[in-house]
This record gives sequence, structure tokens and C-alpha cells, in this order.
Amino acid sequence: MISKSTHIQDAKKLLGRLPTIYAPVPEYLFIATDNARCAKADIFVKEGDHVDIGQVIGMRHAAFFDQPIHATCSGTFEGYENHYHRSGKMVKFMKLHNDFKETKCETIRERTQEEIDKLTKDDITEILMQNASVGLGGSSFPTHVKFQTKEKINTILLNGIECEPYITADHRLMLEESQKLIEGIKIIMKAFDCHDARICVKSKYHDIREVYGELLKRYEGSGITICPVKNYYPQGWEIAMIKEALGVKIPSGQLPAKYGIIDFNVSTVVGIYQSVKYNMPVIERNVSVTGDGIKYPSNFTVRVGTPIKGLIDICGGYKNEDREKVFILGGPMMGASLPSDDCIITKTVTSVIVLNRENYHEEPCIRCGSCVYSCPVGISPVLIMNAMKVIPVDRERVKALEPLKCVECGLCTYSCTSKIRVTDYVRRAKTIAKL
Ligand code: SF4
Ligand code: SF4
Repeated sequence: MISKSTHIQDAKKLLGRLPTIYAPVPEYLFIATDNARCAKADIFVKEGDHVDIGQVIGMRHAAFFDQPIHATCSGTFEGYENHYHRSGKMVKFMKLHNDFKETKCETIRERTQEEIDKLTKDDITEILMQNASVGLGGSSFPTHVKFQTKEKINTILLNGIECEPYITADHRLMLEESQKLIEGIKIIMKAFDCHDARICVKSKYHDIREVYGELLKRYEGSGITICPVKNYYPQGWEIAMIKEALGVKIPSGQLPAKYGIIDFNVSTVVGIYQSVKYNMPVIERNVSVTGDGIKYPSNFTVRVGTPIKGLIDICGGYKNEDREKVFILGGPMMGASLPSDDCIITKTVTSVIVLNRENYHEEPCIRCGSCVYSCPVGISPVLIMNAMKVIPVDRERVKALEPLKCVECGLCTYSCTSKIRVTDYVRRAKTIAKL
């Protein structure tokens, strides 16, 4: 495990103190037709059709689930455009022309507490499926699938660790949406008939611990507690979080639910609350726009479908305009690098990081072993890299080195003495091992 450099930690600390700005909803919003988990989609509207906020305008199809596509503004469907997606690929987006009337689909309505109290786990699972609730920490895993587990859940962990450098969107969400977070946790606890929910945060975040210390006095006996964890990367990876919070080691390839544990990112929980309380799909989310390549890093609440260019303008534009920029959607360790700012905020974009490109050259591997020591899943990135360099690639040899255990945390690249992009080799090895 490694600590981050001081200037990045300072930037993160500073940004964590800035209140979230509600970003203006732009004239055009863009909704991806498919995504990393859903390769196909059917579209239910034709060009020129009027749409309302929350209206189902299509259906994505994955191998084992379907996912409704919702309009995130009211206005007109105007066809398709290609833009960069969080996956790093150029994909097809539906173009919605905002009429700024904010008319909502009739399915969006507030449930009373009495109605919520009557909902069963199956009802909530159905609501989350209809509202296309997914892991908003970046995983994009469908929440309703998590709810379908048949295992008895004894502990719910809420992941507010946000261990990647630069990002503070969840930090601010926890401070500013604490009531919604607690109400969301109560909904999950009731669904799983679970009486132990622990909000995991870095122990150094005294502001969050103070806020929840006070708030939870009102929920005495609820079983909701704050669980401070250490400050290292990748502490927010669910397996590391479970080990730190509960002392339980989940073997590779097994689900935490098998051990009576389930975990949700804190943004996902607020999304679950909105879904159950208002029957509202995720139409906006919190995003950090930061990095040394922009003038004034900020945290935003952003309408899903917003192009990032407008957000960068609100941040005062680019710093060092003469220098080439690198754009990362998601954290700098696990996010996807994009070649331009022509990208869109989707449900799972936690951050936009704009960096001034550093020109450096990879040096030959000196077999220092740093990548091996830093790997949280205990595989040997350097051996995988070497195996991948042999032409033709020996698939059995690559597979035996277990690249599929890799969680793409990026630590092997980060820690490499020779500045080799080791993670890229491991990613490619995963593809080979799956063949
Ligand atoms: S990216 Fe994969 S191989 Fe590299 S350190 Fe992380 S888990 Fe290990
Ligand atoms: S950290 Fe880099 S230089 Fe060191 S063994 Fe791994 S690949 Fe080689």
C-alpha cells in the first residue's frame, strides 16, 4: 500500500471543503444507448417526440438483466450523436433538446412513509429495477441484482471511503445529504431485515464523523453506526473495506453476501432513497471536476447527460492552456483516460480529472518487485507483463498467473520505478485469459 503525494492530498483536502454547486442544466443532454454492461438497446421514441423527465425512452439489454433508459430532462428527442463515454470509447448517445419546463413523467410520485413501510424486499427490488438503479461509486452494477441475493445478510456496509486521489464528491454528499443517506440506509436495512449498518469513512474525516455523530443520536437503537477506516489506497475496494471494517477476508471469486455482508456506495444509497421515496430514477449525481489542468476545481450536482465542457467552463476553463491535457472520467487510478473533452456525464461518472500531460519515457524493468508488493490481490504484475510480451502469447501461461483476480486498481503502474504502464499489460492479459 502506498501514500499519495502531498500536493494531490492538499488539492483533495481543499476541494472537500467546498460546497457542492448545482450545475445549470444545459440545452442539450445526451443519454448513452448502451454501456459496458449492456451491449444492446431498443429505443422507444422517434425523432421529434416529446419526452418528460423520468420517462422510459428505451431499454438496454445485458446477458442477465434489462435496464430501462430514462430521459433526464423534458423536451424533444432529436436523434443521435457520438461522444466519448466513461468506458473510454466513442459511443452513440440519444440527443435530448431541453425545453426547460422540467415536466415530469406521471410515474414520478412521492410515497408516504406508510406506503414505504409496507414495501417488501421484492417490491423494493422491482422499484430499483424499474428505476435502473446502479452502483454510483463507478461500478455500475445493477442494484436490483444485489437485492436479489437469497443469502441472509447480517451486516450492511456503506462505502463512503472514496480513496482515489482528487475526488471528493461523496465526501460532500455525505455532509450535504446526510438525512437522505440515513433514510436510504433504513430502507436497505428493512429490506434485508438487517440490524447492523456501518457507514465506512476515513478516520481522518473529522467533519463527517462529527456530522454523523450528532445525527445518529436521533437514530439511537437503529443499528446504524459510523465505522472509521484507515487512509490508504485501495481501502475503498469492497474486499479491503470488508477486511478492515469487519476482519472478514472474502476469498477471490466469492461474493460478500455468502458471508452475510452486503455493501453499497453512499451515492448509490441516496439514489435508492430517491427511487423508493419519489419513484425517481437517477437523473442527477455529484461529480468532482478537478485536476491540475483546470483553474478552479469544484464539486457539482450534475444532470445526467451533461457534456463536461460546460462544467469545465464553470471551473474557469483550462489552466496552462498551452499544455496538452489528459481527461480522466472516474478516479485517476481506475478511471478511463480520454483523448478529448468531448465526453458526457453518465450515471457512473464520479469525477472528471483534467491533468496537464507529463511527458516521460518508460524505462526497462529493473525487477524491483514494487508492483508485486503493492498489488492488493497478491498477483505478480511484472510476471504477467513479461508473459504478455512473448509473441505469440502463451494463453495457458498467462492464465496460470491469474490476471482475472486483478481489480484494475492501477497501483502497479503507480508504483512502478521505471514508469511502465503495468496495469495496461494486466488488463490485456485479462482479455486473453477470458478467451
Ligand atoms: S491493477 Fe491489478 S495487477 Fe495492478 S496492482 Fe492493481 S490489482 Fe494488482
Ligand atoms: S515495479 Fe516496474 S520496474 Fe519494478 S518489477 Fe514491476 S514492472 Fe519492473
